[in-house]
Amino acid sequence: MNKKLVVFNWKMAPSSLKKAEDLFSSAKKFKNKNAELVICPPFEYLEPLLKHSKNKTIKAGAQDVFYKEKGAYTGEISPKMLKNLGVEYVIIGHSERRKFLNETDEMINKKVLAALKAGLKVILCVGEPKRELEIKNYELMLKKAKDFVKKQLERDLKNIPNSLFIIHNSLIIAYEPIWAIGTGHNDTPKDAVEMSKFIKSLVMSRLSFIPKVLYGGSVDSQNIQKFLQYKEIDGALVGHASVDKRKLNKIFKIINKK
Ligand code: PEP
Repeated sequence: MNKKLVVFNWKMAPSSLKKAEDLFSSAKKFKNKNAELVICPPFEYLEPLLKHSKNKTIKAGAQDVFYKEKGAYTGEISPKMLKNLGVEYVIIGHSERRKFLNETDEMINKKVLAALKAGLKVILCVGEPKRELEIKNYELMLKKAKDFVKKQLERDLKNIPNSLFIIHNSLIIAYEPIWAIGTGHNDTPKDAVEMSKFIKSLVMSRLSFIPKVLYGGSVDSQNIQKFLQYKEIDGALVGHASVDKRKLNKIFKIINKK
């Protein structure tokens, strides 16, 4: 079975480099033979993280990137800057950026293209805002989620030549139902498997390429194994639980035990 990919999104935490380094060093202790581990800290901790993980047991990812190579874009970071720093992965289109920073599919599309061109591995986040729980018909409920994700993927991957994927084999999709992010109510593994299969076949039909699909949304040490046990789910994207040292250590132990 392929190695799982587990990505930790630290969002805007922790509040100091000292705390970030404390988390890095506990992460470094684990050999993680069963998974590729990627920490996505705030930009300012990327370089210290890279120093901590010289032996590459943990890889570094950014939480965002801009789509221009250079120019007068105050506050932005280019794909090349990340690449030159040694960053391997970048999260694009996280729902919090879509919501709080008004990122549109058009912007996300440009970011995906620019990041792939620079040789970064893209973790593209998609997911429906709510589950239509009032709909009694299960198939119809899933269909609504699939329709929403399909539209996002079509827009976010518009005009991206598949030669880029052949060169870099670098597109990863994180299925993150928004209603499950930071709420403590994760999706059922059964539905996440269904959505993962759907996403893989959709990307395959457009780009002749089967991407890795991660599940994200209130993943923690209690439930990560329930998702990772399925071959259709290639890994997980973990938010809040990954900046809590105790929870993070538990997650590492679980991944290593598998
Ligand atoms: C995320 O930030 O992508 C995420 C899934 O967050 P949480 O694990 O806190 O739900």
